[in-house]
Amino acid sequence: MGNNPAKVVIFHSEAAEDYAAPGHPERPARVSSTRELLKRQSDFVCDWRAVGTISEESILRIHDSGLLENLKSGSGNFDADTARLAGICDRAKDSAAAAIRAMEAAKKGEIAFSLMRPPGHHATRSTAMGFCYLNSIAIACGEARASGVKRVGVLDIDVHHGNGTEDIFLDREGYVFASIHQSPCYPGSGTSHAGKNCFNYPLPPLTARNYYRETVREGLSKLASEKVELIGVSAGFDAYARDPLAQELLEADDFYWIGQQIRQAGIPFFSVLEGGYSNDLPLLVKAYLQGIVS
Ligand SMILES: [Zn+2]
Repeated sequence: MGNNPAKVVIFHSEAAEDYAAPGHPERPARVSSTRELLKRQSDFVCDWRAVGTISEESILRIHDSGLLENLKSGSGNFDADTARLAGICDRAKDSAAAAIRAMEAAKKGEIAFSLMRPPGHHATRSTAMGFCYLNSIAIACGEARASGVKRVGVLDIDVHHGNGTEDIFLDREGYVFASIHQSPCYPGSGTSHAGKNCFNYPLPPLTARNYYRETVREGLSKLASEKVELIGVSAGFDAYARDPLAQELLEADDFYWIGQQIRQAGIPFFSVLEGGYSNDLPLLVKAYLQGIVS
């Protein structure tokens, strides 16, 4: 059989597939169908691992205690798109725990992807919003900092601006944020750089694929020039041409290319699923991972 195929460590819990708001685009099939495709394919080996647990200390490094209390025992929805679903606090904790595990795997030199929901990058220090309850990638970056990483960066390729991550990172020592996103689009922020360490690359709807790619490379170069030691990728796949929530033009090949670029940057990194709402999400995740291992 020749060379050993490359290996991707996937952090996943089937509990991530057991909650839903009726008719909501952030639905269980996003993750379950991606899990099924990754298990079926043979282009690379997936090493499936449990997500483990998360301490409140890890959450409170990033979020206000008020948000955690609200998640645990508050009432009412968080916003029109972000419902208080049964068990959502535990599901958000699982998602953040998986991001931490992916970060830990990356520090050991593994290629790691968190295949979980809910997503996290819209959750600010104090507010759950935009389908997001806890900011998983920010929590993982906080954990990295606490474990001795001096500078950690987030590359946010979700088509929506990662306003929550920016809110948490803004002018915070040791953290750098770079986001490539459609503008105008939800949540409306990210139209220019912010503070000393948040770099925003807004792109108009229907941006040409080559230009979109070059802009992702620019964001990645910025993180490299900021000398980050570790990168968390907010891996959203909603810049896809047929995504129902945005108007960009990327194809599976572009996610492959993005995966390649990130790997070739030579900085340890881990990836956390954010958005991506088309039925083709499994193919896009697979293309991205294949780019990484190619
Ligand atoms: Zn998104």
